[in-house]
Amino acid sequence: PSQMFQFKLVLLGEAAVGKSSLVLRFVKGHYYEHQESTIGAAFLTQSVTVDNAIVKFEIWDTAGQERYHSLAPMYYRGAQASIIVYDITNPESFERAKTWVRELQRQASPNIVIALAGNKADLENQRKVEYEEGAKYADENGLIFLETSAKSSQNVTDVFSEVARKLPKS
Ligand code: GDP
Ligand code: MG
Repeated sequence: PSQMFQFKLVLLGEAAVGKSSLVLRFVKGHYYEHQESTIGAAFLTQSVTVDNAIVKFEIWDTAGQERYHSLAPMYYRGAQASIIVYDITNPESFERAKTWVRELQRQASPNIVIALAGNKADLENQRKVEYEEGAKYADENGLIFLETSAKSSQNVTDVFSEVARKLPKS
């Protein structure tokens, strides 16, 4: 790889959809059945190589403060990328994800790259949000879309790599 690029990425989504689990799977390769919600902003870094460039993410996990919506702008301020997460077994979390998308499209940096992740894809037998619903919404709103599982690691690196591929490198 010839060049390195650094970007701020913020994880958003309802509590318990698996944001922290996705970050820990991506950064440390681990999965915890009973992930404790951390207090304060968790900040981790990890890199991916795409298109002959190293993309280093500074990842901000909202860490339990999802409930205090007024704190959100301070997380996504200056973010060039966001992964908005819902839980495929929880339709309310999908609706909440859509409100995050609208908020970012109005308030965040104009060229922010947004990915929508339908997490807990391993829980197929409890699915309540169809793949097509997520895919259609993402398509209509110009978002990257993948169904992920922090538990099985399905598509976890891929969602970060897709974001990295779409970010400007110049
Ligand atoms: P957060 O509040 O959005 O950060 O969610 P957490 O990462 O704390 O996860 C909430 C709960 O969901 C924990 O018990 C996790 O073990 C579980 N969880 C997270 N990701 C997955 C997943 O992909 N599959 C399954 N089955 N459970 C998950
Ligand atoms: Mg968390």
